[in-house]
Amino acid sequence: MSEYTVKLKFSREIAEGTMAFHFEKPAGLSFKAGQFGNLTLLNPAETDAEGNTRAFSFASAPYEDDLIFAARMRDTAFKRVLKTMQPGTELMLDGPYGSFTLHNKASVPAVFLTGGIGVTPVRSIVLQALHDQVPHRILVFYANRRPEDAAFLDDLSAAHAANPSYTFVGTMAEMEKSSREWHGETGFIKKAMLLKFLDDLTLPIFYLDGPAPMVKAMRDMLSAAGVDEDNIRTEEFSGY
Ligand SMILES: Cc1cc2nc3c(=O)[nH]c(=O)nc-3n(C[C@H](O)[C@H](O)[C@H](O)COP(=O)(O)OP(=O)(O)OC[C@H]3O[C@@H](n4cnc5c(N)ncnc54)[C@H](O)[C@@H]3O)c2cc1C
Repeated sequence: MSEYTVKLKFSREIAEGTMAFHFEKPAGLSFKAGQFGNLTLLNPAETDAEGNTRAFSFASAPYEDDLIFAARMRDTAFKRVLKTMQPGTELMLDGPYGSFTLHNKASVPAVFLTGGIGVTPVRSIVLQALHDQVPHRILVFYANRRPEDAAFLDDLSAAHAANPSYTFVGTMAEMEKSSREWHGETGFIKKAMLLKFLDDLTLPIFYLDGPAPMVKAMRDMLSAAGVDEDNIRTEEFSGY
């Protein structure tokens, strides 16, 4: 693993309370879609007991020019500094780490069950897979409370049109609180929803990621549906 200095190009709000940070990709950095790095603030204006470093999955695909990270903007010292960073600000990146990456065997479908900010490595993996035209069947189930909260929704759903072996299933749990139109699924990701799009739950490799309680809920649901533990891969976003 290596350390890199990364320079902020710009930041933008990509969903309510969620921001994406675009960095110049440092020379020499190579990562696999789905991996993460540790970002450290350098000489921040404020800090707290959690310190100046957080793990972030790469939200960008390796083929993309920018290095993108995305975060739910809670009111912590780290996030306050992140939110007000000006273009040109430098951070330290240590990585890449992790093995939450697409399996090789193309005949085995890949099914991603994600929610909220857990979408970051899924965006990276899906965009890279479509770019590389991998033969795998890929299904993404992406849960949020409302479309307003769903980061990278357009990126993931637009990719759908371009590739017949890719299926995107967005689901919203609290549409009564939304002012947007939604024609997709509603409610939590459940066995019945998976079975609408998958004939056999024992075939795919399932990738679960996001805040620990969501990963646990998805794992329990899959186990109860008879999915073998060996076919479940997880990435927990500790800290939520
Ligand atoms: C492999 C990996 C990949 C990750 N990828 C991402 C990613 O892509 N994007 C991303 O946003 N995060 C990601 N995370 C989580 C990230 O590293 C931070 O832990 C997370 O963003 C929380 O940071 P924070 O500054 O908001 O809270 P912290 O200051 O780290 O919070 C410390 C503690 O206080 C609690 N806490 C703080 N604020 C609140 C609040 N408002 N309400 C309730 N409890 C609170 C937290 O639960 C935690 O226990 C990843 C983590 C891992 C391990």
